[in-house]
Amino acid sequence: MSASDLLPVLVIGAGPAGVSTAIWLHNFDVPFYWVDADGEVGGTLRRLHNEISNFPGGPFEDGQDLCASLVEHLSALSLAPKRRNIISLRLSDHFDHPVAVDDQGGELEARRVVLATGTAYRRLGVPGEAEGMGDFVSQSAAGDAPRFTGRSVAVVGGGDAAFENALILADHDCQVTILARNHNFRARPSFVEAAQHHRSIHIPPRSSVVTRIEPTQGGCRLFVDQQGHQSIIEVAAVFIRIGVDPRVPGGCQSLRKDERGFVVVDGRGRTSHSEIFAVGDLTSTPLRSAITAAGSGAHAAKACAEDLGFF
Ligand SMILES: Cc1cc2nc3c(=O)[nH]c(=O)nc-3n(C[C@H](O)[C@H](O)[C@H](O)COP(=O)(O)OP(=O)(O)OC[C@H]3O[C@@H](n4cnc5c(N)ncnc54)[C@H](O)[C@@H]3O)c2cc1C
Repeated sequence: MSASDLLPVLVIGAGPAGVSTAIWLHNFDVPFYWVDADGEVGGTLRRLHNEISNFPGGPFEDGQDLCASLVEHLSALSLAPKRRNIISLRLSDHFDHPVAVDDQGGELEARRVVLATGTAYRRLGVPGEAEGMGDFVSQSAAGDAPRFTGRSVAVVGGGDAAFENALILADHDCQVTILARNHNFRARPSFVEAAQHHRSIHIPPRSSVVTRIEPTQGGCRLFVDQQGHQSIIEVAAVFIRIGVDPRVPGGCQSLRKDERGFVVVDGRGRTSHSEIFAVGDLTSTPLRSAITAAGSGAHAAKACAEDLGFF
């Protein structure tokens, strides 16, 4: 694809939202170009270890199982994303249409762009976190708990994911400390109650803010501010689950967003920039799930088809 080609539609992302957009554009005979930073299908689903019991056609054993079914469907249609990481979109008036720029400097100009780039786990942003990621800093108990069986670990966060991670780790015989900034936990009451009554899970009485992480021989040392009282906790690993942030490519400052940075769209996925659509978890939506992501992709594909005169 050369820089000078004007694409009818560019779809960015191959999670359930991007997959559905691609299938529906294909159905409507709208030519499109499809990219994903990983070059693989499934997005967040590829990292899910829980059963997916709420996607039609299921239940699926885990996210990979649902991905396999998506890949099979796409293969039958000869559809697959190209591996390209889009680092920015140029939306300036100097260009007739949005221009996507990838990390190799390649440019893709399209009449319509569908952003399906999802979310990323939020990080603490403290010294030592990035350096320890994948070693003694993790964001997935389901994936990493077996590495720490029987050892002391900490979980940072107060929502569903943090409490679920703590319970998974306790099931692996870990001694778990939950460090939450706010003791009005956002997690569902059943998770909080299970954690509070679990003999291997400890929730310090004071709110706790991790300010630094240092490697040790056996794991890491956490520097914790507990309402002005400084303490140090030594653990084999720290699991950080403090929510998600939208993955909006650079250059999209002018798109309307909600207070948390999620892209605001109309009922068909159109953003405040009429040539840009956003679908799935990236958007300001009351439910982030595979099926709502897929549904939003179908609406955006239809709107693109209408815009471009395919109806
Ligand atoms: C622990 C957990 C459990 C869950 N359980 C369920 C469940 O049981 N049922 C359910 O329905 N949902 C569940 N979900 C939610 C579900 O995974 C998401 O709602 C869904 O994956 C969102 O789809 P998406 O396509 O919007 O984004 P994603 O799946 O996040 O896909 C985004 C894609 O965009 C690509 N991308 C990002 N940035 C760029 C870029 N700059 N350039 C190119 N490509 C890019 C990524 O590589 C990725 O492939 C769960 C989520 C989590 C975290």
